[in-house]
Amino acid sequence: MPQRQAFPKPSHDHERCIAKAMDAARQACASQGAQFTELRRQVLEIVWGSHAPIGAYEILSALTKNGRRPAPPTVYRALDFLLAHGLAHRIESKNAYVGCTHRHEDDRHSQFLICRACGQAVEVRDFALSQAIQQLAKNSGFAIEDQMVELAGLCPTCKGKDAHAS
Ligand SMILES: [Zn+2]
Ligand SMILES: [Zn+2]
Ligand SMILES: [Zn+2]
Repeated sequence: MPQRQAFPKPSHDHERCIAKAMDAARQACASQGAQFTELRRQVLEIVWGSHAPIGAYEILSALTKNGRRPAPPTVYRALDFLLAHGLAHRIESKNAYVGCTHRHEDDRHSQFLICRACGQAVEVRDFALSQAIQQLAKNSGFAIEDQMVELAGLCPTCKGKDAHAS
């Protein structure tokens, strides 16, 4: 069985993804007593423009299109806020950001499947894998501060296209 619908279907209603993510963000901020300012909201909405990670400069230019001209440090601060509150993740291999609707308590043990064709990144959370990584670190006397597992490849849709093309 493939991971149940890890990747969204191309035909899915992405407006609903955005609406759900924005609702979840509002709630998360309210429950953490954090300010969901207009800029933070706009940045998150741009991050949720698709399921593909987006770079800070693309975010900046999208904001400029919206009629704002924030300075880059302001955008980085908004992104830091989103990261700190578990509303987005940084995909290191892409130097880009992707939205998150998981409720991360203090665990940050996710794995990301990143499609090299369409660019979509999907977050999966495999507890056993996280445990194995912790054990690996322990055996090496290594203290993990950050766990980033990013797997590159083809999503089911792009894999299908690839098979047809060849
Ligand atoms: Zn979507
Ligand atoms: Zn997440
Ligand atoms: Zn793909």
